[in-house]
Amino acid sequence: MSAARLASLIRERQPCVVLTGAGISTESGIPDFRSPAGIWAEVDPFEVASIDAFRRDPERVWDFYRKRIHTLLAAEPNSAHVTLAALEQAGLVEAVVTQNIDRLHTRAGSREVVEVHGSIRSALCPKCGREETVEGVLAQLDIRPAPLCEACGAILKPGVVLFGELLPAAAIDRATELARSAELMLVVGSSLEVWPIAGLPLEAGSLAIVNVGPTALDKRAVLKIDGSAGETLAAVAAAL
Ligand code: NAD
Repeated sequence: MSAARLASLIRERQPCVVLTGAGISTESGIPDFRSPAGIWAEVDPFEVASIDAFRRDPERVWDFYRKRIHTLLAAEPNSAHVTLAALEQAGLVEAVVTQNIDRLHTRAGSREVVEVHGSIRSALCPKCGREETVEGVLAQLDIRPAPLCEACGAILKPGVVLFGELLPAAAIDRATELARSAELMLVVGSSLEVWPIAGLPLEAGSLAIVNVGPTALDKRAVLKIDGSAGETLAAVAAAL
């Protein structure tokens, strides 16, 4: 059975580092990006989530992120997030590198979480670099269309990586270091279409994938399980 095989791989190929994408959070009610029911089937990312859109019309970008932040804060970690936290606790997962901005890994109890696309935890001032908490941002969004920096008055930028922006260097360096040191990289819920993150599994000793549908690296994996993250990881934990 493939869950049992994945359990043996995790036991035998240590250290194991996990790379997650939007697919791990769909069972928490957060749509992914590229599925037919995904977010980009409804809105054009370049209109609401790109750095050019932010420079052109920050209020429109904040209108999108205000709704998105509320959705993400209302979501709860599912059994896939919880299982990964338990595997870390058991010494079987070294770290989770995530493309997600929803903070569900941290809320599920994972400690070593590298957020390569930023997160909704805060917003940043593009002028003076001041950080504002998500609570502060939401309080401002109740009274104005875009939050302002309390220090210099500039419009804050969401703390997530927008399309057209560089990824945070410290997070990428840490993710690359983790991938290179891993005997096994386990990818969960990512189409592996977004670079440079999609290149990380190729840095690891071996690759296993749990994803509904194909990914760009299926042929490079020692094991591919086409199944849902929550159910599959719960079965893996039971087999460990
Ligand atoms: P993606 O949408 O490209 O791929 C998600 C993959 O997960 C798809 O192949 C899909 O079939 C699969 N999937 C869906 N439900 C699944 C489930 N229950 N179990 C297993 N697999 C499932 O997403 P990606 O690869 O993460 O793309 C990267 C971009 O998506 C990043 O920029 C990330 O910031 C962003 N994103 C994040 C969130 C979030 O924070 N929850 C949500 C949407 C998108």
